[in-house]
Amino acid sequence: MAVMKVLVVSDEVRHEIYRADLRELFPDVELVLSCGDLPFLYLEYIVTLLNVPLVYVFGNHDKVTYTEWGEELRVPRGGINAGGRVVEVKGLIIAGLEGSFRYHPHAERQYTEWEMRWQIARMEPRLLWNRLTKGRYLDILLAHAPPWGIHDAGDPAHRGFKVFLKFMERYRPRYLIHGHTHPAAADTETTRYKGTEVIHVHGYKVLDLEVGRPRERGGTPLPAGDRDPPPLRAR
Ligand SMILES: [Zn+2]
Repeated sequence: MAVMKVLVVSDEVRHEIYRADLRELFPDVELVLSCGDLPFLYLEYIVTLLNVPLVYVFGNHDKVTYTEWGEELRVPRGGINAGGRVVEVKGLIIAGLEGSFRYHPHAERQYTEWEMRWQIARMEPRLLWNRLTKGRYLDILLAHAPPWGIHDAGDPAHRGFKVFLKFMERYRPRYLIHGHTHPAAADTETTRYKGTEVIHVHGYKVLDLEVGRPRERGGTPLPAGDRDPPPLRAR
């Protein structure tokens, strides 16, 4: 099984990343993932220096920005928007779900459980097709918000999505990578839910992701660690 070095960025611009010798710092990084809420020019800077694909989702705070010369930027140029889609990059199948839980009735990139469920329903044909043709639905669910009860908080803006738990149970992604909330201590935290590693990144983190092995799904018993119940927080 191959391992791919992936730089994940999210939510906070970091001086350790915004530097001219980025390529020397991360010579082996093959892919950049962004969980959102980052300036588009920051993302463009990273992909320009690393010269590897960028797959991103928008956060709830991402909006149109302008360059110093007045050009309107609606997306980070040179990146692949995975929001509401399933994309395949360097052999990794990545589904993306942008935005946060809805805490303002008309705001963009905020979703109710039902609105998020609808986004997932639209991805379903492609996920099923992947299962038939590649032996797995997907490898990574890239999201801005966390799942409900995992790395989330009790307030409406920072609560996670219950439908993400259902997604993991049904499609068994190897990883769910998200941002949006604040980790308890360090820049990242990881929690296992069923067969999925739920990885929370705030700032940046280089991950060694396993690629290329279709996972056993359906009736095959998972190893003991995979059967642990989620560490849901009391609320
Ligand atoms: Zn956010």
